[in-house]
Amino acid sequence: MMTVFTDVICPFCGCLCDDLEITVEGNKIVRTRNACAISASKYMHHEENRIDGPTVDGKAVGIHEAVDAAAEILASARRPLIYGLSSTECGAVAEAVELAELVGGVVDNTSSVCHGPTILALQAVGESKCTLGEVKNRADLVVFWGCNPAEAHIRHLIRYSGMPRGLFVPEGRKGRYIVAVDVRETRMGRVADLFLKIEPNGDFELLSAIRAAVRGHKIRAETVSGVPRQQIEGLAERMKGAKMGVIFFGLGLTQSDGRHMNIDAAVGLVADLNHHTKFVLTPMRGHYNVAGANTVTAWQTGYPYAVDFSRGYPRYNPGEYTSVDLLARGEADAAVVVASDPAAHFPADAARHLGRIPVVTLDQKVSMTALMSKVVIPVATAGIEAEGTAYRMDGVPIRLRKVIEPHEGVLPDAEVLQMIMYRVRELKEGA
Ligand code: SF4
Repeated sequence: MMTVFTDVICPFCGCLCDDLEITVEGNKIVRTRNACAISASKYMHHEENRIDGPTVDGKAVGIHEAVDAAAEILASARRPLIYGLSSTECGAVAEAVELAELVGGVVDNTSSVCHGPTILALQAVGESKCTLGEVKNRADLVVFWGCNPAEAHIRHLIRYSGMPRGLFVPEGRKGRYIVAVDVRETRMGRVADLFLKIEPNGDFELLSAIRAAVRGHKIRAETVSGVPRQQIEGLAERMKGAKMGVIFFGLGLTQSDGRHMNIDAAVGLVADLNHHTKFVLTPMRGHYNVAGANTVTAWQTGYPYAVDFSRGYPRYNPGEYTSVDLLARGEADAAVVVASDPAAHFPADAARHLGRIPVVTLDQKVSMTALMSKVVIPVATAGIEAEGTAYRMDGVPIRLRKVIEPHEGVLPDAEVLQMIMYRVRELKEGA
């Protein structure tokens, strides 16, 4: 029997598109509508490369045996790390934070290798932000700085920032002026009205020059970071004259020289522009629920990521308690990885240390991290086999839908984390 699920939420990128149609036959996904290529691939290849069942040291075991092994690792660890969490739902994030508190560990999410510098800057200087709905309905000037939504957030331009006809932008794409700033001309650069090719690591200077021009200062240099003075002055004038402008920014800004100082400069530019018109700033968050991981961690601990419970209360210090730093220093002596693949994506020294310590992985698919883990527990895919809440890149919470049943005995992340916690408590009480 065929069932068509409408208004399904895509569990892939920070756009969190909520208009997908997924057709299921039996318990198999057979068709998608409205999904971009990345999303369609996630749904249609959902059954491929799955983890068959729980393992300890590569040997197949039952779920309870795997949970026991995970709990023993955590109960005896002195500096456990719990990492990942941006590709699972908020309930699982809440359990992970509680587990970190129980074992006196560090809980961190993928922000620490992504938009962590954005969070640091916004904590220091504040932010002017809005929802994507406001962008759709009002923005007539859209800047994409160091990001490439045409390839990484494929429906962003179609749904929110480029093409849609909005209440006060009735002409859609024709009513918006789109600017792309990047070190190379990506597909985004080619669809923009203005492309500024910036020298690598020149963001801080260029942002400061535009800011100076907005304030009415004369720029004496012929070029700043490779961009001619006329273009800088022209853009500053256009920004001041917009009805509403938005700067979307990505890893080109957060991971280049200056890091959080680049965001600091962007916030300063936006603050100056608000003397002339309405302007906002929004990070292009990557994974579909990395914003949720920050939000839930902040609700529970007061801090958004890199939270250390070793003293029994939460402490926050990115650079010290961030996963890469903790691993590269050889400090962590055990790790629980939920919905992430740090062995594939972390720098070599951090990944190498991960290979030396016992790792517990909760995931759907075989990954490099799963392959080197002591304990592996397959879990239901949030947004496909399990419900839950996720936060869109602009902070709007959306309820994920379940369209198929998980394999027999396969539980959602939150339930597995609860089982591990229960067992850790038993071990601690028995000790
Ligand atoms: S743009 Fe992102 S959220 Fe939307 S369908 Fe594609 S992958 Fe999914």
